[in-house]
Amino acid sequence: MPAIDALDTNGLVDAHCHVDLYPDPMAMLRRIEDAGIHVVTVTNLPSVFGPNVAIAAPYDRVHVALGLHPELVKSHGHEISVLRELLPEAQFIGEVGLDFTTNDRDEREHQRAVLGNVLTWCADAGNKVLTIHSRRAASDVISMIGTDYPCSAILHWFSGSTAQLKRAAAAGLYFSVNAGMIRSKNGQSLIEQMPPECVLTESDGPFLQTNRCPAEPAGIALVVDYLSKRWDRSYDSTKALILANFERAMARGIS
Ligand SMILES: [Zn+2]
Repeated sequence: MPAIDALDTNGLVDAHCHVDLYPDPMAMLRRIEDAGIHVVTVTNLPSVFGPNVAIAAPYDRVHVALGLHPELVKSHGHEISVLRELLPEAQFIGEVGLDFTTNDRDEREHQRAVLGNVLTWCADAGNKVLTIHSRRAASDVISMIGTDYPCSAILHWFSGSTAQLKRAAAAGLYFSVNAGMIRSKNGQSLIEQMPPECVLTESDGPFLQTNRCPAEPAGIALVVDYLSKRWDRSYDSTKALILANFERAMARGIS
């Protein structure tokens, strides 16, 4: 692997980062700006969307997403009304989705109900880009999105089967891949199956750890370097391809 400092970060895409969960979000925003990275900063609850928009306002390349994390649906499901109210203000939606590490039937149903509402409201608005969590629930998530969803949907940290991946790609969904995936055999073989035009990159920082440190947007350079080798392209053209994918996802989100 090349030294990360040798790789140009300008124009990288981080389609799923939790900037507000780093110890110093303001410092992270300045680092993102200096590095020239396009970042979607997701939120886990609708009530923190406003404060995140306020701190990110000076940064053109930072997009704040409006979310209700599936693992918080049980305790904060009532915030769905806040999400609905704020929806017109957000082009990006996330983190939303399903997390079926819980075996509790009621909780799964509650998550399904919340995601179903979010998908419907976004489809009605027609101008959204969603970043979606699908741990142990890829099949349900892909079925709920359907095959002709009018907004752009990004499956973040996809960990489903090859067959599910093919269904998702055929439905026009995107995948945002991260440093954890390029380190795991399963992640590598999934990436192998992804059509390059469906691929975006993400840090999922600070949740994802690299070398026991929280992943950062700049670390995506190593993911792009990995993809460039898989796809037999230069680093710069791989970076440009991912940015083009991101711009296409946003354009579909706008039309
Ligand atoms: Zn996340």
